[in-house]
Amino acid sequence: MKKFIENDEKLSFEEVDVVTTGTCGIMSGTAAILHIGVSEPGEFKKAKAISLNGVPAFPGPCPNELLGSVDLIVYGTKQSINDPNYGGGFLFKDILEGKEINVEVESIEGKKIEATIDIEDISRGEMIGSRMAFKNYTAFTNPSGKEAKSIFSGIPMKGKLNQFSFSGCGEYNPLENDPHQEIINEGKKVLLNGSQGRILGNGTRSTAEKPNLMLSANLLEMDSEYLGGFKTGAGPEIYDTIAIPIPILNEEIFNNLFIRDNDITLPVADIHGRHLPISEISYEEVWKNTDSRPIFVKDTFDPEKNKIAKNSCPTNAINDNGTINMENCFGCGLCSILTNNKTYKMNLGTVDLDIDNEKHNIPITCRQSDRQRAKKLTSKLKDLILKEIFEL
Ligand code: SF4
Repeated sequence: MKKFIENDEKLSFEEVDVVTTGTCGIMSGTAAILHIGVSEPGEFKKAKAISLNGVPAFPGPCPNELLGSVDLIVYGTKQSINDPNYGGGFLFKDILEGKEINVEVESIEGKKIEATIDIEDISRGEMIGSRMAFKNYTAFTNPSGKEAKSIFSGIPMKGKLNQFSFSGCGEYNPLENDPHQEIINEGKKVLLNGSQGRILGNGTRSTAEKPNLMLSANLLEMDSEYLGGFKTGAGPEIYDTIAIPIPILNEEIFNNLFIRDNDITLPVADIHGRHLPISEISYEEVWKNTDSRPIFVKDTFDPEKNKIAKNSCPTNAINDNGTINMENCFGCGLCSILTNNKTYKMNLGTVDLDIDNEKHNIPITCRQSDRQRAKKLTSKLKDLILKEIFEL
């Protein structure tokens, strides 16, 4: 639909039945409720503490007394006690990929129980996102040059006005395309990481001007490609991908879909203070004429020199031989920045910021949203609707 608009092709209300929208980015409010079997019944009374691959979770609310199983809640942002670069988002992906997960339980009577489980041992898993699919984001730069470690950048922001990090899928974002939430509201169906889920309502901190959604879906039916961990300058985070259909029920709903990147403002703030905008641009400036993925230039690869890029990759997508596991790549651009666009080539673009009446051209150094993934899920949703697997 956006291409039709871009090419000035006529598109009438009568011709369009449904438009699928989507977004992919870091969504810190992601958690999962799991029920897992860890031992034979009777081996322990009740879990007091539990961790999965070192990621601490909260046992309960159900006590499961003497059942040998545990109900638990685990956060997508929770850091592993064994590895500062591993957290809940990486754990969810590992579970969905069928990997073995090490579980450690401490019972109320002081017993330690260790078990190795995989997805087959999880009889029920539900993902709940308390704040997802945000409509509005703020981008960040560092005007003072004082180092800032933040979840809003894959690496610490050091230099003065030489790094720029942003999130948001612009014109594809569901809430941008339904600004009055005529369609996207409580009870409606969504595709959350590939699993059919529901909107529970608006999310925490949601307002009419800056809405977001509370969503829920069966974790065990999700596709591992659409979610995962994301290392940041301030610990592990989690990314999710969401697609939402907008049935064209009236002309107003149709007309709202004409929104483009250049209509959507992106405020820019100081990474230190975070809240007060110091400049403003549009989404066209961050997405237009950029590459969605890097290209690996084998001739320039040096395992020692490229170690930093490999270790800094937020999604661990770089293999030991330098090649990129494209299924894990998020298109964040850090590998290109850290190798001066030599070993990993990618045009991330630059932004022109007006700060205190001075113009600054700043390179984009980290993307925390992935439009390619978002578009892939919107296409998948379209297919599922056409096949009548996803019923509106
Ligand atoms: S763009 Fe580079 S650093 Fe970013 S996820 Fe892909 S391979 Fe990793």
